[in-house]
Amino acid sequence: MIKVVLKGHDFKYEVGELIKVFGLFKEICFKEDKDIIDKNGFLLINEVLRKHDEYTVITMLFENNNLLSEDKRAFKITKHNDLDERKNLKKKIKISIFDVLIKISKSNIPWGILTGIRPTKIVHELLDKKYSIDKINTFLKDEYRISDEKIKLLTQVAICEGKYIYPIDEELVSLYISIPFCPTRCVYCSFPSNPLKKGSDKSDQYLLHLKQEIVKTGQLLKVHGKKLESIYIGGGTPTTLTSTQLDMLINFTLKAFNISRLKEFTVEAGRPDTIDRDKLTTLKLNGVDRISINPQTMNKETLKLIGRQHSPEDIEKAFYTAKEIGFKTINMDIILGLPKEGLREVRNTLEAIKKLDPENLTVHTLAVKRSSKLNQDIEDFEMAKEALAKDMLALTRGYANEMEIHPYYMYRQKYMVGNLENVGYSKKGHECIYNMQIMEEKQSIIALGAGAISKIAFPKENRLERVPNVKNLDEYIKRVDEMVERKRKYFR
Ligand code: SF4
Repeated sequence: MIKVVLKGHDFKYEVGELIKVFGLFKEICFKEDKDIIDKNGFLLINEVLRKHDEYTVITMLFENNNLLSEDKRAFKITKHNDLDERKNLKKKIKISIFDVLIKISKSNIPWGILTGIRPTKIVHELLDKKYSIDKINTFLKDEYRISDEKIKLLTQVAICEGKYIYPIDEELVSLYISIPFCPTRCVYCSFPSNPLKKGSDKSDQYLLHLKQEIVKTGQLLKVHGKKLESIYIGGGTPTTLTSTQLDMLINFTLKAFNISRLKEFTVEAGRPDTIDRDKLTTLKLNGVDRISINPQTMNKETLKLIGRQHSPEDIEKAFYTAKEIGFKTINMDIILGLPKEGLREVRNTLEAIKKLDPENLTVHTLAVKRSSKLNQDIEDFEMAKEALAKDMLALTRGYANEMEIHPYYMYRQKYMVGNLENVGYSKKGHECIYNMQIMEEKQSIIALGAGAISKIAFPKENRLERVPNVKNLDEYIKRVDEMVERKRKYFR
């Protein structure tokens, strides 16, 4: 446990999140100065003093009343507005605490003081300001304490994304459609997915209401001169639907929107136990050019453990069928840090994927989300530790090099094993536009269906509005008109 005293500011949440990243203490206990009577154990004191426009931040770390390390920094804040001032001050406080804690940390902290989800945004801002790559490197090191390896990843991704995102064209939007059904629920799942059981299949009813949302939103976008750049049907597992249902869904979607500038159409065919030649042919004939077949692992035992009802051979079969049918881009998702998996298992998965040679590979580091079964039964699972997760990530980088795929988008999540990142790799020319747009938040994502969250972008104001649909399937069916009205508000 560590006791923490903060003086002269209220960044308690941010300080707590940063201390957690170090993984040094089981508990973080914020105290008032006057309440520190017992000086045993670890104590961190962080204080901000202000004199006119000059600040001094002091951090001290004690163990059993002995000073272990300290940091003191004075600086002036150029004040453009109050928000800038707070942001800068918060950054300096975090750096000061980081520099103190890193001295007693056994591992390096590759993402430094960054705890946000979209670190590439910072690089885009710097590129906008015409910073050179060298200047960006120095800035990320000095201001965020990011490691060289992660800086390289960030700049590589941001430069690649820049070619697709800029210049911003406000006529274009992306469309996301949620199909919240899966054959069974994976243990790590936190998505609004409903196991599709025989006898209680609500898919027809759902599609009927989804059609209403699609048609009305299509009209709304057409009136406002918006055209689709990309379509992404995800979930859940959309290929849980029958071939006839998929055919209908895609047909009325393509009719409802202006698709004269459509560049990409993805359908997640995530689980091989939901794919057959008939469904894949239907997708291809309807213009789908990118599908995702997601093994997560190629180890039979792990597949069983995480709640999947298919074998690695089923994955290979589905992949080769999709290849034969002729999809331009096939993505495969894998997860590092799955229960009972070590480097040997990850290597086995990567070897199998290398043989398949997909155009995209998305590497997730396991995030144990609160709503997942994994979180509820965590004691029953053997999980990878931080150092192992780092080695796994390094192994995937090596394989990506061999497979000649490069990182083109990335993001971080809360509760990730080892506090690392998710990276999408791609062969040149196969980068997924939708993935890049949703990460950088410069384009509106219009999201339809239960649990879908639209993100309406106002790039001139550097602003984004999140417009969520209800998650529950029955609620969605009852309130579909309301979901359209929620979006309409932002187009007035
Ligand atoms: S396939 Fe994806 S959405 Fe479906 S249960 Fe597994 S993790 Fe959840």
